Amino acid sequence: MRISVAFSPAFLLILSYVTRIESKRPACGTHDPTGEEMRIAADVMKRWNETGGKRGRKTVDIKTYWHTVKSNNEGAISNKVIKQSIDILNAAFSPDFSFTLVNSDITTKASYWGIDFNGDGPMKKDLRKGDCAALNIYSTNINNLLGWATFPDTCTLGNAYKDDDGVVIHYATNPGGSMSPYNEGDTLTHEVGHWLGLYHTFEGGCNGQGDQVSDTPAVKQPNYGCNKGTDSCKNKSGKDMITNFMDYTDDSCMDTFTTGQFERMVAMWNQYRSDGSPPTPTPPTANPPTADPPTANPPTADPPTANPPSCKPSEKSFEVQVKTDNFGEDITFYLQKRKGKKGFLKKKIFETTNLSSKEKQIFNTCVRKMTCYRFTIVDAFGDGLCCEEGNGWYQLSLNGKKIKYSTFEGKSRERKKFGCR
Ligand SMILES: [Zn+2]
Repeated sequence: MRISVAFSPAFLLILSYVTRIESKRPACGTHDPTGEEMRIAADVMKRWNETGGKRGRKTVDIKTYWHTVKSNNEGAISNKVIKQSIDILNAAFSPDFSFTLVNSDITTKASYWGIDFNGDGPMKKDLRKGDCAALNIYSTNINNLLGWATFPDTCTLGNAYKDDDGVVIHYATNPGGSMSPYNEGDTLTHEVGHWLGLYHTFEGGCNGQGDQVSDTPAVKQPNYGCNKGTDSCKNKSGKDMITNFMDYTDDSCMDTFTTGQFERMVAMWNQYRSDGSPPTPTPPTANPPTADPPTANPPTADPPTANPPSCKPSEKSFEVQVKTDNFGEDITFYLQKRKGKKGFLKKKIFETTNLSSKEKQIFNTCVRKMTCYRFTIVDAFGDGLCCEEGNGWYQLSLNGKKIKYSTFEGKSRERKKFGCR
């Protein structure tokens, strides 16, 4: 009896109905930022603020490509609705960004219909246009999700990442679509917010750094509907900003990006999307230091040691000269002694942190003769000592003899072994 009930079509129908109801809860499929992503984003903002914040205040015009995916009679979007969607973006992101529709195309392909965020790769690779400054919007059937987007920090990592860059929305979230109350076009606004570097207002809940934007109050969990009195984080100041585009409230409810969110989007744009390459920030001082060209004039081969340490006969003097870029505090270096045939001891010696910025500095220590060491230099931000944030370099010497010179350009880490056999 039970078996026959369990497999009766009516029962299956109920099951699938229940499943659909439960997962119908609207959600955005954009991945939660990782700790590493959040750390780098915080660093981008720190730099941005240190170099003067919003600069120029010119509206950035974003070339926009619209890709409609259809299946039989479903998914078709009229040109009028596409234009309405672009108008909605223009209203929401003004005055810092505007959007110009360059082209729209229509594709009918079963494998691009009914996809999830793990399965959008072939569609994007096939249809995507432009560089990291180009916004690609894909409107298709994504089952029970409203949309998802890629964050800006990945686009410039390589072609595979660029191919994946963009915003995917459920076709029924377009203005006049069937996904009420999410059918006034603000799913697109929300996803483009992610594409420009914003997190959900409820990111991280009530504690921690939240969405890393200081003027959006902490929010415990996604808000739905439009309950204006909500204050989900009693331990933090401010009620939930339920009108914010980066929550999950009804389209008719959301109409706000804050000053801090705009600041973040402009910073992220400049870091990752403007011409696909980061900008040269305005020097923070009125008289910027004279830049040492990194390659044209390397330091003299054997510079005199500043304060040669008096090393024992069994030791050699080891010297590090570093000319830092604008962010010396990001630079760390240290030595490790070899352990066994290939490995190195975990213990860091001669560890030097928090260097001053834009200065040439010299550090000395004594190392044992006939001993294998590994020197490691690290930039916490990942751009090395050169050349976007100033023209830095470093040089290593052993008993006054140069063993390494490098501009340590655009990397997070560089190493040099010495005394090894
Ligand atoms: Zn989202």
